[in-house]
Formats: sequence, structure tokens, C-alpha cells
Amino acid sequence: MKLILLGAPGAGKGTQAERLSRRLGLAHVASGDLFRQAQDRGTQLGLLAKRYMEKGMLVPDEITIKMIEERISAPDCKRGFILDGFPRTVNQAKALDSAMEKRGADIDKVLYIEVSSEELVRRLSGRWICRACQTPYHILSSPPKMAGKCDRCGGELYQRPDDSEETARKRLDVYFSQTTPLIEYYRTQGKLAEVDGQGNIGRVERDLLGVIEGVQTGGR
Ligand code: AMP
Repeated sequence: MKLILLGAPGAGKGTQAERLSRRLGLAHVASGDLFRQAQDRGTQLGLLAKRYMEKGMLVPDEITIKMIEERISAPDCKRGFILDGFPRTVNQAKALDSAMEKRGADIDKVLYIEVSSEELVRRLSGRWICRACQTPYHILSSPPKMAGKCDRCGGELYQRPDDSEETARKRLDVYFSQTTPLIEYYRTQGKLAEVDGQGNIGRVERDLLGVIEGVQTGGR
């Protein structure tokens, strides 16, 4: 099973991809996490990506596509994967289509998580993330049991620098101009399923699983 989670920054892609990947035994491939890991390691890729990420801009397609192609060639992706944050441009989607074609494979479904823009700004500006396991929290709607500590692994929580209000707004502008054309792109391919992302985490997960079960049984 090869899935794409599509949606704006703050729509819940990371949270849902994490839950679905554990439940379904699929690799969770998050482009933003790969860039942040490269930054933590101080690699050339990380330094380059940082220049774009801190401004809320997209990392150039050529670099992003190469990174994802390498990642999905890893052994843990053989059973299938969930792409989170990639593709973000039509150019990236086309590159992914040809990479899949070369492997004689295809993307099974694109799950589009819909959330209103007011809710996205609210979510991004209150978001805290575990440095160790990437679990997200929200100061109001899903706070950790102990301030500053991850419930799951005890890791330190931090606010992503690109979640500051100004950069978050820029990321949303970039999303609406460069990523939303993908909704039509995948609708035309007959792969798009829309899921309301405004409900609680469990309900959104159930809706996503409902679509995936439909794919597994050949229903939709
Ligand atoms: P995310 O963690 O998905 O919100 O991504 C954080 C940042 O990483 C984005 O604002 C971009 O600067 C960069 N990034 C992540 N995925 C991509 C992508 N598919 N194409 C270009 N840049 C990306």
C-alpha cells in the first residue's frame, strides 16, 4: 500500500501518518522530518534546506525529489509507505509518478485532510513537538501531561522556528499557491479521497482508515 497524505501545514498529516504507519506496518516518510534530521546532522543537504525552511519557502524540487527517491528505495519502504509533506508541487508529483512507473508500481490513494485556514493558524501557533520522537502537542487542545516533556518518550518539547506566526502564514501562502493544484491533479487521476480534518484525532483516523479499507477491498 502506497499512500500520500495531502493537506496544509497544521492539517494533522504528521499525527495521522504516524498513527496509520504503526497500525498498517507502513514506512512513514516525512520530507520535513528528513530535512530537519539533515540539519541536526549538519550535512550539506541540511544546511541548504535550512535557508529555505527558515523563510517558510519550499526547498527546490530537484533536491527534494532526489532525497525522497532515495528514501523510498530503502528496504523498509518495500512493504509500502505513507508520504507526508511530499509531493508539494505538481512538478514533484510528476517526478513521483515516473519514479513509481520505473518500479512498476503506483500510488494507491491520496488522502486529502481538509482544515479551514483560521484553524490552521491556530494549530500552528500553539504547536509543540517532541525533539526525540516528533510527537506533536498543542498548548490548548492536546497539552502534554507534564509541561515541556513528551508523554510518550519523556523527550524535550520544542516549538519549531518555522511555526512562528509570520513564517507559519508564509508557509500557508506557499501551500495555497503551490500545493493546492495537487488536489485537482490527483482528482483527475481518480486517486483523491477527501477527509474532514477538523474533528478529533481519533475520528479523523477512523475516517482515513475507512478510505484505506475501501482501497484494500477494491471498493473505492
Ligand atoms: P513540514 O515539516 O512538512 O511542515 O515541512 C517543513 C519545511 O520543509 C517546509 O516549509 C519546506 O521548507 C520544507 N519541505 C518539506 N517538504 C517539502 C517538499 N515536499 N518540497 C519542498 N520543501 C519541503
